[in-house]
Amino acid sequence: MRILLVEDDPELARGITEFLRGQGDEVAAVGDGMEADRLLQQGGFEFALVDVGLPGLGGYEVVRRARNRRQRLPVILITARDALDDRIYGLDLGADDYLAKPFQLAELAARMRAVLRRGGGESAQIGFGPLTLDGEGRLAALDGQPLALTGREWEVLEALVRADGRTVPRERLQAEGSGNALEVYVSRLRPRLETAGLLIRTVRGFGYRLELARDRS
Ligand code: CA
Repeated sequence: MRILLVEDDPELARGITEFLRGQGDEVAAVGDGMEADRLLQQGGFEFALVDVGLPGLGGYEVVRRARNRRQRLPVILITARDALDDRIYGLDLGADDYLAKPFQLAELAARMRAVLRRGGGESAQIGFGPLTLDGEGRLAALDGQPLALTGREWEVLEALVRADGRTVPRERLQAEGSGNALEVYVSRLRPRLETAGLLIRTVRGFGYRLELARDRS
């Protein structure tokens, strides 16, 4: 699992990072809220552990921004504060759980497993930035406005959204025997998404990925 750890206490960050890597997870550790926000915008994380008291941008704000972008990755807030109000505030913002320092690493692992179990795998609704896709009704919305998609457009977008900012190889996006149809779908989707600041970036010779325009966050 690819995990973002946001913790400005170097000793604690090192301890958590080593523990998670020992479990076979991939960890990106940063100690600054702005840096965390920037990495989350790039996407690709499957879990985030976020300290509340951070330089740059507070942990609550990091979570709030991610949820505003409709990023649904599981988040556990880590904090020295154990006041009930803070805990409720963090959960209201969209954090999945809350861990007060000091804690045992085994407890952190147990909480993470519990959050993942609650998530119950892929949810019917997924999103990236201003775009949301509801798999049950095959409904797409951009900035809350309905977006009409053909079947193939839906499939291409769904694969890109599920990749959450990582590049999807063209072979995976291409329906069998469709030749250069993929370029056609992408070029039809692009102008419609760009109005909301969402870009389909071409990774030459490899595939495509979703990206948020820089001037919009
Ligand atoms: Ca801190």
